[in-house]
Amino acid sequence: MLIFLVISQIINNVGKDGLVIVYTGKGKGKTTAALGMALRAVGHDRRICMIQFIKGSWHYGEMTSSKLLEPQFELIAVGKGFVGILDDKSPREEHVKIAREAVHISREKIQSKKYDIIILDEINYAVNLGLVEVNDVLDLIKIKPSTLHLVLTGNYASDEIINAADLVTEMKEVKHPFQVGIKAKKGIDY
Ligand code: ATP
Ligand code: MG
Repeated sequence: MLIFLVISQIINNVGKDGLVIVYTGKGKGKTTAALGMALRAVGHDRRICMIQFIKGSWHYGEMTSSKLLEPQFELIAVGKGFVGILDDKSPREEHVKIAREAVHISREKIQSKKYDIIILDEINYAVNLGLVEVNDVLDLIKIKPSTLHLVLTGNYASDEIINAADLVTEMKEVKHPFQVGIKAKKGIDY
């Protein structure tokens, strides 16, 4: 029975080149793991698109350094277009609008077949906050070309998304300087 299961698993996975990869958990390193993968893939002349779902007015280093890796690496910070209104005081509708826009862009990018890897950064938070329906994410997984690697980051990855994934890593927080009041550092945290 076990052998049958293993063989059927192998047969089902033949030709399934593209993985669904999830970086979740409370510990630091989810977005940087995805960026590290992108850096590695550029070295193989792969095409990567990262779509950032939840970003405020902060400037993250990758928004600038990604330009050095163009055209192989493309970064779209959807929230960046809403600087000044995307902060904690902005109405929920603005967050929903940004998240919907990010899903729309993600769908277009996935369907374009132009990329080898697409990273949906912080999408798990968007689902957890109720800004994006889990079914919308499952739909993106369903429509992806079989060769495309799809990376989903953010804590609180839903069970449905974990079930649909091939690779799931949970970052575990052992220690974080934030716990002793040390603030976010340039080049390390943003
Ligand atoms: P990073 O972008 O550094 O890889 P991350 O993607 O794992 O972190 P997020 O949940 O997206 O983490 O958090 C965004 C910001 O919060 C980043 O500046 C990150 O460094 C910081 N951060 C990450 N984990 C923690 C933590 N456990 N406690 C406090 N701050 C954190
Ligand atoms: Mg992150």
